[in-house]
Amino acid sequence: MSRLLLTHATLFTLSGAGQARRGTAMRELGLISDGALVVEGSRIEWVGQTAHIPREYFNTQEIDCKGRVISPGFVDSHTHLLFTEPRWDEIAARHSSLPESTPRPHSLDRGIQRSAREFREASDGELLAKARRRLVDLQGFGTTTVEAKTGYGLTNEQELRALELLRRLSAESLAAGLPEIHPTLLAHVPMSGTAEQTFGWAPLIQQAKTMGARFFDVYCDHGAYTLESARRLLQCAQAAGLMLKVHAEQLHPTGAARMAAALGAVSVDHLERLPADDLGTVARSASVATLLPGCAYFTGPPWPPARELIDAGAAVALATDLNPGTCPSLSMPFMLSLACAQMKLTPAEAWTAATINGAAALGMAQETGSLQPGKRADLACFETCDLREVVYSPASNLCVWVMQSGRIREQAQ
Ligand SMILES: [Zn+2]
Repeated sequence: MSRLLLTHATLFTLSGAGQARRGTAMRELGLISDGALVVEGSRIEWVGQTAHIPREYFNTQEIDCKGRVISPGFVDSHTHLLFTEPRWDEIAARHSSLPESTPRPHSLDRGIQRSAREFREASDGELLAKARRRLVDLQGFGTTTVEAKTGYGLTNEQELRALELLRRLSAESLAAGLPEIHPTLLAHVPMSGTAEQTFGWAPLIQQAKTMGARFFDVYCDHGAYTLESARRLLQCAQAAGLMLKVHAEQLHPTGAARMAAALGAVSVDHLERLPADDLGTVARSASVATLLPGCAYFTGPPWPPARELIDAGAAVALATDLNPGTCPSLSMPFMLSLACAQMKLTPAEAWTAATINGAAALGMAQETGSLQPGKRADLACFETCDLREVVYSPASNLCVWVMQSGRIREQAQ
């Protein structure tokens, strides 16, 4: 088995009990200022100070990382990876308040419905190629694990197709040394022109589990699923053995975050309009509060109440919400920058939210998200000794390489 020794790095290990960090513990990054790390095969074998490397590792292939930060790779625990193209004209029109460049006479050919039409019309090859390119790009910013939702199918047939494409993408990604993919079945919006469709979901949820989906997610909001429909779907998914996630409190307060936390959801996501009365309940629950700064950046405030959640003891994660309508960015460093500049997080809290807490939001905190012996060797290396430079330089990419399950992938210069 191949063995590699990394030396003289500024290491942020995030090491701990393999679970989400909460409240003030989010500021502890496990710094080793002249750190070393031994990787054997796909696993981390040893972590410590360069001066204390055990003799048995002396004759190992070595990479000198002086002047560089090494941290766990980012875990992007909320994306809609599988789509055709961002809806650029809708995004530009929203920002400029000018009409869309391509007039769309049919009101249904906008928003999620439009992305669903494009998904239906695109070939498997086109969808896979676009998702593959996004995986390469997001890995280039330091991401080594990514969650990916269905949700542009909107019919059982097309949702099954999305799951099958995610299964193929996941296998290809593993073979190619691209980020690990965790698939989620998403109940996005009911098909237009019909009553709320919850009936058709039960068989789909059953099938999703056998096709490799780990999570079930439902978008609970006005114009999407109601609280009662969302609850029924979540209970159905829980019975089928899927872990639960919810798009909650994004555009309107609905009570979805409180409901999902009570059901034991692994994460409650968005929370821009989390009712003040529910904040303590969410913070004290086992659910990770996954906040998506890119969404507020592209669609406007309010920003999610990150500071209040952490101060109330919550486990907060950050993710991109990469999607064609409200966040076309796949850069985790950009999300960290937004979280610090606009959501009052410290750089250390943001880093924790993007690594070990992201892993916890995927039920993967025992496997990735920190640098400690036995864990998968998913690392990101940055051209700086100070991670604050990564956070506060959102237009620069300081990531020089990532290690994906023990394999180094250098950035194209
Ligand atoms: Zn989303």
